[in-house]
Amino acid sequence: MFNITPIPAFDDNYIWTLSTTGSLEVAVVDPGDADVVAAYLQDHNLNLAAILITHHHWDHTDGVESLVSSYDCPVYGPADSPFKGITRPLEDGDTLSLLGHNIRVYAVPGHTLDHISYYLASDTPQLLCGDTLFLAGCGRLFEGTPEQMHQAMSFFSTLPDNTEVYCTHEYSLANLAFAAAVEPGNSAITDTIQRCKDLRADNLPTVPTSIGTEKQINPFMRSTEASVRDAAEQHCGVVMNNATEVFAAIREWKNNF
Ligand code: ZN
Ligand code: FE
Repeated sequence: MFNITPIPAFDDNYIWTLSTTGSLEVAVVDPGDADVVAAYLQDHNLNLAAILITHHHWDHTDGVESLVSSYDCPVYGPADSPFKGITRPLEDGDTLSLLGHNIRVYAVPGHTLDHISYYLASDTPQLLCGDTLFLAGCGRLFEGTPEQMHQAMSFFSTLPDNTEVYCTHEYSLANLAFAAAVEPGNSAITDTIQRCKDLRADNLPTVPTSIGTEKQINPFMRSTEASVRDAAEQHCGVVMNNATEVFAAIREWKNNF
């Protein structure tokens, strides 16, 4: 597995650095801000070996051009991205070799159409999922359909429970407030709110989370649960026939929460 460390950027972004013990080579994921990355590399005496992009949004890509001009490293990212700085285009199912590890690429459209995630299988698997899966939440649907995002959530739920989930934004407490509104009786949500409040009080990240935790607390990964369906039906005042409808309803509910 990688050693993974966040570089905070903007108001609530995390730029994740991937490295292996004993090496001074690192990769960064979604560097929206070059300055904070360059400062981190200089402070720790590190060389930038690669950049990984999950999707085209500016807060994930704006630092790429400047970092490439300083470090001349490859830029991995979705082949179909509107972002033009990608030098190593990737498709669903591709494997890339990075710092001695093989990373698998999975397309997870929904937040954007070009969105991909990066997965490292190991005893403790690691998932870099950009703006798709968040602690107790999921990304907004800027380009994709509820069906697509629901499919991405269903895919994530097939990963091992102990998979570490590295989200790109610190949205946890706001997401948890919504999760608690959907499932007031879910004690795993209540417990997670306390844990995250304690971490934020110390100015620490609440992520990574894990797939196992998300299956217990994340309404967007729980649209097959009766409690979530009941809440969605009550909120919308209609009967829902499948998990995709439930997902679409709670996504819409969250947009206006
Ligand atoms: Zn985004
Ligand atoms: Fe973002």
